[in-house]
Amino acid sequence: MCAEASFKTGKILAKVVLNYKMEALTGIHVGSSKETFEIGDVDNPVVKDPITGEPYIPGSSLKGKMRSLLEKKYFTISENKNAIEFFNKEYHSCQEEHCPVCSLFGASVTNPPRPGRVIVRDAFLDNDSDSVKTLKKMDIPSFTEIKYENSINRLTAKANPRQMERIPRGVKFDVEIVYEVDDEELFKINLPWLFDGIRLLELDGIGGSVSRGYGKVKFELMNAKVYKITKEGIAEKDFEVKEKNASEIVKEMWEYIFKNAEE
Ligand SMILES: [Zn+2]
Repeated sequence: MCAEASFKTGKILAKVVLNYKMEALTGIHVGSSKETFEIGDVDNPVVKDPITGEPYIPGSSLKGKMRSLLEKKYFTISENKNAIEFFNKEYHSCQEEHCPVCSLFGASVTNPPRPGRVIVRDAFLDNDSDSVKTLKKMDIPSFTEIKYENSINRLTAKANPRQMERIPRGVKFDVEIVYEVDDEELFKINLPWLFDGIRLLELDGIGGSVSRGYGKVKFELMNAKVYKITKEGIAEKDFEVKEKNASEIVKEMWEYIFKNAEE
């Protein structure tokens, strides 16, 4: 099998750019490791932009969670019954060209490593949203809340208090996801899986402590755009997304990229 050649066509036919608003429906904690400790610091801080001091959601955090959920989806619908084998003890990666997960996200442990086709950008605060404006008026420099929690020792019943910093519910972020189109077959497989990944993120959650109520989010697709590589240059087209479901949007994009060569 000529794996290397099949994994990368070397083409960019188009870039699909999806812009979402992501709203925190419950407090979000995407933790950062503390490099320095200052008096008055919270125990478990959230990731913040070092320039603005505002919290943000790293793209890697969204992408990693989406991949993990889609791997489970793929395992569920695949014939493979052996979870240890499917997930390679940790996470799924394979050589199968049309694997919906590995073709979308890539696989670093296969030999040769295979490239992914999706980029998830870091998500920053939506400064135009009412919730963020309200937070800014409240003059809380971190834009976060501190939640106090207790874990109870089962034997001594002694409470073990800790603090968690959270992005409060109602806060909105701008999320940009970019998909590189290099193959018609993979486009048809990958795009619906990408939309399913967003749906599964909503049904699961992002960041830490999801099972304890944190991290529920809602995504709203605001804009979908295709940048198409042509001999004349890069053509671009906006797609109407309101009132449309994912499969309608995918079908329209597919027609634009692969069918309307003259447009
Ligand atoms: Zn795979």
